[in-house]
Amino acid sequence: MTYDFDLFVIGAGSGGVRAARFAAGYGARVAVAESRYLGGTCVNVGCVPKKLLVYGAHFADDFEQAQGFGWSLDPAQFDWPSLIANKNREIDRLNGIYRNLLVNSGVTLLEGHARLLDEHSVELGGQRYSAKHILIATGGWPHMPQIPGHEHAINSNQAFFLEQLPKRVLVVGGGYIAVEFASIFHGLGAQTSLLYRGELFLRGFDNTVRKHLQEELSKRGLDLQFNSEIERIDQQGDGSLLATLKDGRVLHTDCVFYATGRRPMLDNLGLENTSVELDKRGFIQVDEQYQSTAPSILAIGDVIGRVQLTPVALAEGMAVARRLFKPEEYRQVDYQMIPTAVFSLPNIGTVGLSEEQARAQGYRVKVFESRFRPMKLTLTECQERTLMKLVVDADSDRVLGCHMVGPEAGEIVQGLAVALKAGATKQMFDETIGVHPTAAEEFVTMRSPVAS
Ligand code: FAD
Ligand code: NDP
Repeated sequence: MTYDFDLFVIGAGSGGVRAARFAAGYGARVAVAESRYLGGTCVNVGCVPKKLLVYGAHFADDFEQAQGFGWSLDPAQFDWPSLIANKNREIDRLNGIYRNLLVNSGVTLLEGHARLLDEHSVELGGQRYSAKHILIATGGWPHMPQIPGHEHAINSNQAFFLEQLPKRVLVVGGGYIAVEFASIFHGLGAQTSLLYRGELFLRGFDNTVRKHLQEELSKRGLDLQFNSEIERIDQQGDGSLLATLKDGRVLHTDCVFYATGRRPMLDNLGLENTSVELDKRGFIQVDEQYQSTAPSILAIGDVIGRVQLTPVALAEGMAVARRLFKPEEYRQVDYQMIPTAVFSLPNIGTVGLSEEQARAQGYRVKVFESRFRPMKLTLTECQERTLMKLVVDADSDRVLGCHMVGPEAGEIVQGLAVALKAGATKQMFDETIGVHPTAAEEFVTMRSPVAS
């Protein structure tokens, strides 16, 4: 049987582009289909534009703190349309780079919606293509509870293209996106409330980190409302919104932004023409080598719902390309010790186990914590405090987890992730000479464990 392609990738996002480029580099005949935007969620409505908006919001702190260093500024003015236009220009540039990357690596780029016709065929733009292997890398889509009036609310895709910065915003959710966007809107000057249905946001993160961030965000004036859920949203004549909560309170706002998780993007994908099965949560079910229940179909990235992060989708894409076309270099993706950052203001950076996870896994745990006012703030009015925390196995001395809330936490934790992956012990941290004066040196100078 001859096929048009050795590999047909559906979705030119983080995982799909990586798999397509590497497979083509290994000599495979590869096509990639993209229906919306090259680079996928991360480049267009995810990591990249989000980080640009976070940088934008951070200037509010910089202007305020600059006064302590002798600078005086006329009241700084912010213009949302300029930020969005500049962000859009940068994303256009990145889209072009992705196009060149694919074309220069010999991948056939097909623009349009791809639909599976059977386990070796895909339809796009009225044409049928056959392939020996098909890789589903279609990513995810925001999920919004269908409460009355949900049509008046926006999701993260829309937030990146708002024409004006709303004066008042209600952000709903307690995960990465909710916390990051609440920081963005608040930093840029919107009166912002974050509503979360549970006791404390960022479930799954270390409890000390969650509480510390709660304190720091509250100190900044971001309104955090936990144990709160919206029952209905009503639009007023002037376009403003009334959000009625389950406890009867009514909040008046200009924008309700739901960040309540993401579902797999399977719309009109034609899965019913194949034997691909979904798992209990509705994501594509795959084995440890990303093989679906259909022998010729694989899936990676957000659509399999393992760890919804760009570097993970990249690693999975690389693994698939190697497994199919360079098996001698195949290595299974290691899901242990994945570092991650929440780009709230201040940032969270974390790698390894939380104290709660370590205890639940049966470790006898020693905890080291440090809270301090960053040196940069000592000449300013800002009372923000940085948190650093190490979770150590008391028996082996291995550092199991490393957590930070503070400026550049993501940058610092990326370096420490290498140490943790290499199995660093607390003694190795202690024997490492600090870089002075930095905040990061605190990670190698914490000597006394917190009494448990
Ligand atoms: P995607 O990047 O979503 O790509 C899927 C592609 O498939 C899309 O381009 C889509 O248009 C296309 N597609 C779908 N169906 C079809 C079809 N039938 N035919 C053709 N094309 C199709 N991760 C981080 O690591 N760091 C961050 O800071 C970060 N910030 C984020 C902020 C936000 C607001 C969001 C929403 C996500 C963020 N993420 C972040 C997560 C990250 O963006 C995703 O984990 C990552 O993009 C997943 O890559 P993917 O290849 O699985 O899917
Ligand atoms: P998350 O899964 O991180 O968080 C979803 C939040 O919504 C949780 O707090 C959840 O509450 C809440 N929730 C879910 N359903 C409802 C509901 N029906 N009503 C009220 N609240 C609800 O999803 P996000 O949308 O924030 O982000 C999706 C993923 O994208 C992240 O998990 C992450 O992997 C990735 N991402 C990564 C970023 C980064 O690396 N910096 C940034 C942004 C996204 P509960 O906890 O109670 O279930």
